[in-house]
Formats: sequence, C-alpha cells, structure tokens
Amino acid sequence: MNSQTGKIGVTTENIFPVIKKFLYSDHEIFLRELVSNAIDATNKLKTLSSFGEFKGDMDDMTVRVSIDKEAGTLTVSDHGIGMTSDDIDKYINQIAFSGAEEFLAKYKDKAENIIGHFGLGFYSAFMVAKKVEIRTLSYKEGAQAMCWTCDGSPEYTMQPIEKDRRGTDIVLYIDDDNKEFLEQARIDTLLKKYCRFLPVPVISGKEQEWKDGKYVDSDRDKIVNNTEPEWTKKPSELTDDDYRRFYSELYPGQDDPLFWIHLNVDYPFTLTGILYFPKLKNNIDIQRNRIQLYCNQVFVTDSVEGVVPEFMMLMQGVIDSPDIPLNVSRSYLQSDTAVKKISTYITRKVADRLEELFKTDRPGFEQKWDDIKVFIEYGMLTDEKFCERAMKFVLVKDTAGKYFTLEEYRTLIEATQTDKDSNVVYLYTTDPVAQYNYINDAVDRGYDVLVMDGQLDSHFIGLLEQKLEKSHFVRVDSDVIDNLIRKEDRKAADLTPTQRNILTTLFKSQIPAVDKAEFLVTFEDLAPDAAPVMITQNEYMRRMKDMAAMQPGMAAIYGELPDNYNLIVNTNHTLIKEIKDEADNALVAKVAPTESEIEKANADITALRDANKDKTMAEEDKHKMSDLEAKVSKLREEETAAISEYASGQQRVKQLIDLALLGNGLLKGQDLSTFIRRSFKML
Ligand code: ADP
Repeated sequence: MNSQTGKIGVTTENIFPVIKKFLYSDHEIFLRELVSNAIDATNKLKTLSSFGEFKGDMDDMTVRVSIDKEAGTLTVSDHGIGMTSDDIDKYINQIAFSGAEEFLAKYKDKAENIIGHFGLGFYSAFMVAKKVEIRTLSYKEGAQAMCWTCDGSPEYTMQPIEKDRRGTDIVLYIDDDNKEFLEQARIDTLLKKYCRFLPVPVISGKEQEWKDGKYVDSDRDKIVNNTEPEWTKKPSELTDDDYRRFYSELYPGQDDPLFWIHLNVDYPFTLTGILYFPKLKNNIDIQRNRIQLYCNQVFVTDSVEGVVPEFMMLMQGVIDSPDIPLNVSRSYLQSDTAVKKISTYITRKVADRLEELFKTDRPGFEQKWDDIKVFIEYGMLTDEKFCERAMKFVLVKDTAGKYFTLEEYRTLIEATQTDKDSNVVYLYTTDPVAQYNYINDAVDRGYDVLVMDGQLDSHFIGLLEQKLEKSHFVRVDSDVIDNLIRKEDRKAADLTPTQRNILTTLFKSQIPAVDKAEFLVTFEDLAPDAAPVMITQNEYMRRMKDMAAMQPGMAAIYGELPDNYNLIVNTNHTLIKEIKDEADNALVAKVAPTESEIEKANADITALRDANKDKTMAEEDKHKMSDLEAKVSKLREEETAAISEYASGQQRVKQLIDLALLGNGLLKGQDLSTFIRRSFKML
C-alpha cells in the first residue's frame, strides 16, 4: 500500500486551534478520552472473541500508558481491535459534522460540550500534543499495519508500517506548554482520578519498593485500577465488610459509613451504584468527598448537582449510568427527563432503605439517628416526595433520650398537652443545659420536652407545624409554665393603674444593662409557689429572628438586633406581694398628686383634640397642645425619678431580677460580681 496524505474532513478551516483554545481549562481530560478508547477497543475484541468471530490470542489485554522522556512522548497502547486504513479514514479522518463553526460559536464557553458530542474524543490529544501518531494493526486477518500522523494542521499523512502486535498505540508528542504530562507523578494522579475503576487493567509506571533507604521503581508493572469495583457486582455476592472496604477505597481515612444502598436498575434506564450514608464530622468532608458519577466505569465528574436530588449531596458513593447525558451543560442536565427519572428513582430507593432499616432494626435505627437526622430533615424540607415517605419513620428525641415516631409522640402527649383551643402543644428545648430550669418545670408538670438542637431544627419545626394538624411548637422558655399550654383563659394581674405604674418602674429601673437584650416588664397572677420573677423569650419573636439570621446576607443585620425578653413578675408570690405593699405605702401617696395631674393634662389633651377633630388646629390651640404634652412628659419623668430613687434602695428587687437573669445565663461580668457581693451582704 502507498502512503497517503489528505485533509481531515472538518468544515471549519482549522479545528485544532479551536480545540486548544476552548478546551484549555480542562485539557487533562485527553487522557480519559484516549484510555477510554483503548478500553473500548479491547472490549470490542473480547466481545468478538466470545462470539467466536475472533480466534487469535487474547493473552495480554492490558492497556498501557507509558512515558518516554527523551523522545518527549506519552503513549497509550492497547491490544484491542485496531484499525485498518479504511477504519482510520472512516473514524478519524471524517470528523463529519455540519455547521461546525456555528456550533463552536454557540458553545464557546462550554468547551466540554464539544467533546463527545461530536466524537472529538481522540482529537482532544491535540490539546497537549504538537504531533500525534496512530500506529495500529487491525485484528482482521491479513490486515496491514498503518501509521497515521498529524502535526496539528488539518493535513495528515498515512503510511504502512511494520507492527507485529495487534492493537493501537496512540503516540503524543507533548508540546512545550504541557511538559507536565511527561511526569509519571502527574499521570498517576490523572489515572487515579479518571481511570480508577476501568474494567480493563491499565498499567502505568512501576510498583515502588523500599531499597537503601528510599523508594525506587521495582521491575513489576503497576496496575492503576480496580477492574471490578463493588458496584458492578451483585449485592448477594457482597458482605458488609466488602461495602466498608470499598468505602475506604473511595474515601481513605474516613470513619466507617453508617449504612449504604446498592442501586441496580435496567429499566427504564440503566443505573448501578452504591450510596453511603457517611458519619459526618465536618463540612470539609462533605465538600471534598462527594458522590462520583461514572459512565461505564469511566469517571466523569463529582459535581452531581442536578443528577441526584439536592439533599443527597450529603451522601457519598458512586453512581454509574450510561444513560446520563454526560457532555452537556448543567442546566440541560437538570431539565433532561432521563435525569429526572433517575433522581426520582434514587429518592425512592433511599426512602425504601430507610424505611426498611426502621422496620427491621428499630434499635439500630435509633442508634444512628443523631447522625442521619440532618440528612433526613434536609430531605424532608427540600423534597416533597421524600417528605411524604419520611413522615412515617422520622424520629424525634425527648430530653430523657427516648426516640419516638411522630405518631407515637402525638399519642404520648395528646392527653396532657392539649390546650384550651384543642391544639396539641409540642414543647422543645434548643439547649437542654441552658434551659434546664424550664425543662424541669415542664417535666414536673407532667409534660414532655423534645430536644431540637440540630442545625435544621428551626426550619424543621416550621415544616412539622404545617404537616401535623392542630399542632403548635413552643420552646420551654418562651413563657411561664402556666401559659405554655393554656388550659383556661389568662387571669389578668389585679393591679390599679397607679400600682402597675409603680411596679413597672420599680422593676424596670433596676434591670442591669445586658448586651443586646431588651426587657419588657409584665405582671402575671401565677401560682404562689411559682418563681417570683422569671425571664422568657417570646416564641414568635425569637423564631422570626432565628429564621432571618439564616438567610444569607441577613445574618449580619439581624445579629445586631437586640433579643427581646419578658421579665414576668408573679403578683401572687408572697415576696412580690410584700414588695408591692411596701411600695404602695412608700409611694402611692407621693405619686398620687402627680398621677392626678397627669390624668388631668391627658384629659385636656383629649378634649382639645376632640374640639379640633374636623378642622385644622388654630395656632393658639397648637401651642396649648404642645405645652400640655411637654407637661405630661415632665410629670412622668418626675414620677419615674421618684420611683427609681425608691427602687435603688430595694435590695430584694435587685436580687430577684438578678436571680432571674442568672437562671438564663444573662448575668455576667461586673453585674454578676455585684450580685455576688450583694448576696453575701444579705446573708
Ligand atoms: P468516540 O470514541 O466518541 O467515538 P473518538 O474520536 O474518541 O470518538 O474516536 C473515534 C473512533 O476512532 C472510535 O469510535 C473508534 O472507532 C476509533 N478509535 C479510536 N481509538 C481507537 C483505538 N485505540 N483502537 C481502535 N479504534 C479506535
């Protein structure tokens, strides 16, 4: 046969600069493409052999990646089917696609789309090579070995050569910008990333051995891949240890996984894989060790957003499917119907497995609960279908450390924790240590308290309130115990306006300044043996702040806002009664004249306003009005000053407030030491 020269059949004048430029960012994938081709060629021959269509030797079917530093070449060799000159013409020379220019213009930014989409796999070699040679001998009887050469221009040469072994060598003359690909260490890294689980042994470099105090090459070839990864086997062939071993092969140095799911479908799409529930220690592990996506054992990517449901991003493992369109953009992936089906399938499998664990091994499920809780809550919050399924097996834990399903828990608390409007009130704590006092009160009352201290619990509570009929979640410290679950209408504290005024100022004026906290003094007619003074935090207000703080960008703003607390004074407590009576004696007579003056001024203001209701106020009246208003505020100031002066001498008031603050961890620094000193004195 004569040598042949020709032009590669592309419609663009010169595709190679385009390949180089557009694919620049990800040019390492050339190795994946070439090794995959070698594997395909090998497997094709195996298939032919199994049908009896090929009868030659099948001894060495390995693929080899070798570096010749002196020649500056990287070679990928296989003993697969090889190519005749006709094959080369058909598969290599005719990169037949129409409208190439148009296409390239459109996909400029998404370079990876070009590869694969138009069978450019082989041509990706030109991203790193100035010249490429294909030296190949077809398996067909009497075939002539050929060498195809191309230096990156659209012209190629093809000529017969001597080659004694069947198969193909792809020889890359690495260009100056890409010398890194002549380093064994770099190639090792790439093979590890892309070729780790390829189905045919891939050899590159030599096994290392320890000699004379350092590692040196031995004379044994190094096989870089595991050709039979666990996901390709039948679940019945695998033991728990196999799954764990495979997990540590995927993610060395991690704790054992909690459990796993072996995926295996043939219809309506093909998908295999193993998903692991990891024992998450920190966010770094999640980011680094992610689910890996394979296509017939070729690594494609570990950014699987869009392929698996979002909440499964917390899982790890491998998904292998030839049905996922691999070389397309992410937005395309997300709208692809095959991908949607896959996502739905995975969700269902995960829910099945969880339900099975829950049903067959409840103690084991409970034991793992604290670790998988964040995953399940995330799933329920983001995936309606999963939520429906999980309502049956999601668990809640109470302060005694007992686990319940939602149904079990409802049954437990329904009788004792239903309020006057027949809402079932779920009490919870976000911090069993800090809220110990409140939990104690609730438990004494015969109530049960849930622990909701997870990262997602505040959102999860919102979800449960939507899903569970007539239910209401209230944090134990959000009100006094009598009001947490209201069995009857609230009794108003029995105080005259003057008394209320005096008591409010009496307490308010003695609250030390607490960083980022504001207090509202209120009075409640509670049980005589309830605490005299308590601090609570309104459920609604707290939740609003918590939720807002979780919105990105809002945290900084909301973090600065003060927390609002109620300082509740129990007017039924003996101590408070005494304080009130003493204050009455000392202050009522004193403030009564001021109070009546204020009342009178207020009445004048109202009268003036009424008289001017339907017209614009005359200048004279406007003056009168502002004089009256100034008078009222001056009188109020005087009154407050008088009460405050009295209050400053009331050690018991200070002591009661400090005790309540202390019970909430709000008494700190100098205020705490003042409290301690005062306590010593009082003792
Ligand atoms: P794709 O692999 O997507 O078809 P490529 O450009 O990578 O696109 O390869 C084009 C064709 O060239 C392959 O389909 C195959 O027929 C042939 N080919 C490539 N590499 C080899 C090889 N190592 N052995 C035999 N045939 C090969």
